[in-house]
Amino acid sequence: MILGLIEHAEGALSERTLEMLTLARTLSKDLDTALEAVLIGEAGDDVAGALAAYGVSRAHVVQHEALSEYAPDAWAQSILQLAEAESPAAVFAPSSERGYEVLARVAAEMDLPMVSNCTEIQAGDPCKVTRTRWGGSLLEEANYTAEVKFFTAAPFMVTPEEAPIAGELELNTVTPTLDDKDLRVRVTGLVPAEEGASITDASVVVSGGRGVGGPEGFGVLEELAELLDGVVGCSRVATDSGWRSHAVQVGQTGARISPDLYIACGISGATQHWVGCMGSQKILTINTDPEAAMVTKADYAIIGDLHEVLPALSEAIRKIK
Ligand code: FAD
Repeated sequence: MILGLIEHAEGALSERTLEMLTLARTLSKDLDTALEAVLIGEAGDDVAGALAAYGVSRAHVVQHEALSEYAPDAWAQSILQLAEAESPAAVFAPSSERGYEVLARVAAEMDLPMVSNCTEIQAGDPCKVTRTRWGGSLLEEANYTAEVKFFTAAPFMVTPEEAPIAGELELNTVTPTLDDKDLRVRVTGLVPAEEGASITDASVVVSGGRGVGGPEGFGVLEELAELLDGVVGCSRVATDSGWRSHAVQVGQTGARISPDLYIACGISGATQHWVGCMGSQKILTINTDPEAAMVTKADYAIIGDLHEVLPALSEAIRKIK
């Protein structure tokens, strides 16, 4: 059988889980084996219904009093014990921070390799995988040999699809053996996200890319966005580098936006970024390179260093106000 780690909230499976189940189901079909799920903690009927719709035949519901909050080692230990009992051919996880974190721990404990960000998996010996590398800028084809295989699906690259025929879901409750060391890292509290206009609703978006230079460089963008009642967005380089959250990434693998005004700062205008912002009413770009694609496509361009141009723009707007 093939096992998939499930993430859900408020009765719905996460998008990354749906992508993962879709990819996992193709492998389970090729191997003519069952697709099963592992849920940490109880989930409601809606989650059970969604799992059945995606072709899952059995869900292992892991229950333990210490698992009320997320704890990566404890989650990994639970999956490890399940894998030892059920001998899956492969274990999948969603391509979320938790999915990567937990699956990497399980694979490391078993001293086996893990293959992340797959777009295609062909069963066989060796198993052939296609996966994204270098922040999604290239596709790698690789042979994968391991007694138990560990996969995540490339985020936003697999279209979620329900199974042609929904199955009956059987539930199996399991209780892992955990000790203190499995709970050294755990969630002890949650801080709600700051409220404010979302990037898809804002009428002005001021986005930054590699040219911003680092997380601290976004101060000048925030200042301008505030003056214009807008929000700050970014390119994928900024999210991959950990400068900004993926929630504000513009582009093919981020948000598609259509504000009244899009201000792209230090962003070259790669196709994958352009598709996310091309619906904007007007585009202004600030770039040191007059040949950059964003400069040639934008309605307005200022050629210069964004760290000089943005404070000057903000100052001018303050004067007008
Ligand atoms: P760069 O391309 O490095 O451009 C930086 C720009 O900043 C340059 O034009 C430079 O001249 C300018 N600059 C440098 N210093 C300054 C300065 N001081 N002042 C002003 N300008 C300056 N990208 C996305 O953005 N969103 C996506 O959703 C997305 N999805 C992708 C999906 C796939 C499958 C793939 C393969 C790629 C995807 N990408 C995406 C990546 C995309 O191809 C580009 O690599 C990325 O958009 C480049 O980001 P950037 O413009 O910030 O960086």
